[in-house]
Amino acid sequence: MKVAVIGTGYVGLVAGACFADSGNNVSCVDNDQSKIDALKQGVIPIFEPGLDTLVKRNVAEGRLHFTTSTAEAVIASDIIFLAVGTPPLPNGEPDMKYLKSAAEEVARSMNGHKIIVNKSTVPIGTHKVMMEWITPYTHFPFEIVSNPEFLKEGSALEDFLKPDRVVIGTHKEAVYKTMAELYAPFVRQGNPVLWMDPLSAEMTKYACNAFLATRISFMNELAVLCDKLGGDIEQVRRGMITDTRIGKHFLYAGVGYGGSCFPKDVQALMSTARKVDIPMGIVTAAETANARQKAILVSKIKAHFGNSLKNRSFALWGLAFKPNTDDMREAPALIIIEELLKAGAKVRAYDPVAEETTKKVIGEKITYCSSAYDAANGADALVLVTEWNEFRNPDFDHLKALLKTPIIFDGRNVYNPAHLQKQGYTYYGIGRGARL
Ligand code: NAD
Repeated sequence: MKVAVIGTGYVGLVAGACFADSGNNVSCVDNDQSKIDALKQGVIPIFEPGLDTLVKRNVAEGRLHFTTSTAEAVIASDIIFLAVGTPPLPNGEPDMKYLKSAAEEVARSMNGHKIIVNKSTVPIGTHKVMMEWITPYTHFPFEIVSNPEFLKEGSALEDFLKPDRVVIGTHKEAVYKTMAELYAPFVRQGNPVLWMDPLSAEMTKYACNAFLATRISFMNELAVLCDKLGGDIEQVRRGMITDTRIGKHFLYAGVGYGGSCFPKDVQALMSTARKVDIPMGIVTAAETANARQKAILVSKIKAHFGNSLKNRSFALWGLAFKPNTDDMREAPALIIIEELLKAGAKVRAYDPVAEETTKKVIGEKITYCSSAYDAANGADALVLVTEWNEFRNPDFDHLKALLKTPIIFDGRNVYNPAHLQKQGYTYYGIGRGARL
């Protein structure tokens, strides 16, 4: 099939590369000239395991093309995906200006019947609004499909190539069948391609993210209670995940969820519900608990060192909102850094891939270190923020020698408190007893 993807970010680039890899001819469009120039030279603008190889292979085999021209891509394609950003506005509503302008550009470039597929996460009802955006600019027939994306950064390729399910929102069976054919190579193991109406498809995306965010916030609230009462949330988690009704995913207590999806999608759902006067108490509570949680590590640091952290320095291990990505959108590390700096502390940080993306947000306010041990050198304590694999089993003797005082604030509960205590560390986790 001939496919265009408008917006070559985390979602667009992964989708484009995967569709090309299954034999389609794909044009990926972005209006960021530097991004397209880099991609044309084989430089992948984001970190995502396996993406580099996949993109290069499909470019070399002539199935994957990059351009800044929407018209060129639309003319060459029958199916056009929109995968532009829908970032949150200050009031929590998604900013739809990128999607509107991309939809209008597509409309103006049409040269025949097109299937226009919305992959961006959008407010419920957007498929109707898209009709209104496109209609004035074209006399060619077109279909609007809602096809929300469920990939997770860090395992985006695997998620896209082996999705749990694919959701296709369209009223027309023929359109569903074309979409199902496009996705067929990814669901050979029998995972479903679900046909539903566009509004339900749009709501499914928000429902999934809001539900997962709620699970995380639920655990974080229990962790605070564990801290107060002296329990261990990790043991509670193990007790919960063995209940098959509950399952094991998205039940880790930590420093709060971040990234480009959960915070904005939860807020978007709340704002949609507000407009129609429907109370969303559970989702609102998940959001409030998360905002509190992002500050919890700094509260623990202050409880140990006192409110003024002047002349203190802290080693931050991990900056990205989760491992295996360089995405810093809504990353808890940003709040932790802000609060530490506000209290007068200095921050020495190391992240395997997110240094450049962090610099784009906060510049040189902190010291960027070349390794985890370099960050720890001379610091008053270690603060683990992102659970990258390389942080899981450090040489604790070496680490102890580098730190000014052997104190660990473990924001992801990756270390064994009893082992660390035996090695002479003071350990603070999330929900693992006020002090072990
Ligand atoms: P992103 O910011 O990484 O990429 C969006 C890209 O679109 C950017 O490169 C931008 O330059 C480009 N763009 C904007 N307007 C354009 C236009 N008119 N023409 C061409 N290019 C244009 O965003 P993302 O993380 O890939 O997210 C895209 C959408 O997918 C969002 O709605 C998001 O909520 C949703 N989503 C994201 C994820 C994720 O994990 N990142 C997962 C599922 C769904």
